[in-house]
Amino acid sequence: MDLQKHIAHHVRDIPRSGIRDFFEIVQSMKNVISLGIGEPDFDTPWHIREAAIYSLERGRTGYTSNLGLPELREAISVYVAKNFGVEYSTGEIIVTVGVSEALDLALRALINPGDEVLYHEPCYVSYAPSITLSHGAPVAVPTFAADNFRLTARELEKKITPASKILMMNFPCNPTGGTQTRAELEKIAALAIEHDLIVLTDEIYSELTYDGAEHVSIASLPGMRDRTIFLHGFSKAFAMTGWRIGYACAPAALTEAMMKIHQYGILCASITAQDGAIEALENGARDVEAMRREYEHRRNFIVSSFNELGLECFKPHGSFYVFPKIASTGLSSRDFSLRLLREKQVAVVPGPAFGPGGEGHVRACYATSLDQLKTAMKRIGEFVAECRAASKAA
Ligand code: PLP
Repeated sequence: MDLQKHIAHHVRDIPRSGIRDFFEIVQSMKNVISLGIGEPDFDTPWHIREAAIYSLERGRTGYTSNLGLPELREAISVYVAKNFGVEYSTGEIIVTVGVSEALDLALRALINPGDEVLYHEPCYVSYAPSITLSHGAPVAVPTFAADNFRLTARELEKKITPASKILMMNFPCNPTGGTQTRAELEKIAALAIEHDLIVLTDEIYSELTYDGAEHVSIASLPGMRDRTIFLHGFSKAFAMTGWRIGYACAPAALTEAMMKIHQYGILCASITAQDGAIEALENGARDVEAMRREYEHRRNFIVSSFNELGLECFKPHGSFYVFPKIASTGLSSRDFSLRLLREKQVAVVPGPAFGPGGEGHVRACYATSLDQLKTAMKRIGEFVAECRAASKAA
C-alpha cells in the first residue's frame, strides 16, 4: 500500500533535520566526543530537581490552567521585567512545552497561507520547516561572518515585500553565536514598524552572554512591545532541556490566539516541570551565573584553538556554539564532518544543516567539559594537518 500518497504534501515535502540524520551515524559509533547536540552538559541544579520531587510528593499531579500556573506566570512576569525591561501581566504569558511549542503556537496563530515570514540564516534548524508546516512562505535573510553574524537592517530591508508579515529572530544565535547591538536592533525595529511586521524574538540563550556584552530585547524598544512575541525558556540557561518547559509573552490578543491552539493540542505544560520552573526563576540565578562563567572559559579555549589551527573562528558574545570556517581544508562542510567523525571520532554539525549559507562552516557546541574539548581539539588538529598534507601531495 502506498502510504506516501496519504501524507499531507507540506509534510511529505519538508526534509528531515540534517542534525538528526547525522546523529544517527554518531549513535552507531563508539568513543565519539560529541560537539554536536546543543544541550548543556550540566545536570539541572539540585534545588530545582528537589522542588519537582517535592511537588510530586505533595501529590501535585493534575492539569494546570491552560496558560500555566498563576504562580509561575507571576514569577515569569517579574523575571522578564527585571532582565529584559518589558512588563507583561500574567494574562499576557503562556507557559508552553519548551520554546519549541511557543514558536509553533506563535506561527500558527499568525500565519494565513502564503504569508511571508522573514528569518535570518544560518538559523536554528526548526525555523524554515516550522514556517512551512504553518503554511507560511519562509524568506531567508542572510547574515555574514563579516558582520559577526548580526542580522542587519540593510539585508532585512532587501527581503521585505508587501506579503511580509512576520520577522523571526534568535539572538544570541544558534548556530553562529552572533548577538545584536542596540543600534542595529533600533534600525530593525524601525523597519518592523514601517512595514507593520510582527516580531517573534527567541531569546533562549540570552543569559549566556560573554565579555560583559549587553543583551537587548527588541521587545523593550519604543513601539515594539505591542508587535512582539517574546519567547523564552529554561532548557539552556537552567540546564533543563528534558523538562520541556518554556513560555511566550505577548499582548493579550496574541496570547489569547496562541492559547486557543495550545488548549486544544496540549492542554497545559507538565505541572511538575512548572513547579521546578518556579524554583529556577526564584532561586536559580547563582547557578546560571556559575554555568555561564564556565561556558565563557570554554569559549575562550575553543575559539583560540580553532584560530590556531587556521580555521577562522569568530569569537561569539553569546550562546554555547562556535561556527568556524573550514573551507580552507578544501572539504565541503558535510565531508569535513563525516570524515572527522569516521577518522577521529569527533562529531560537529555541518553548517548547511542551518541553511545553505552555512556551507564552508561547521557548528561546534562547547557545552561539554574542558577536558573533552581539549581532546576534541587535538584530534581536529591532527585531522586538519592530515587534510593539508594530502592536498599538498596531490
Ligand atoms: N530555539 C533555539 C534557538 C534553540 O537553539 C532551541 C534548542 O536548541 C530551541 C529553541 C528549543 O528549545 P526548547 O528546548 O525550549 O524547546
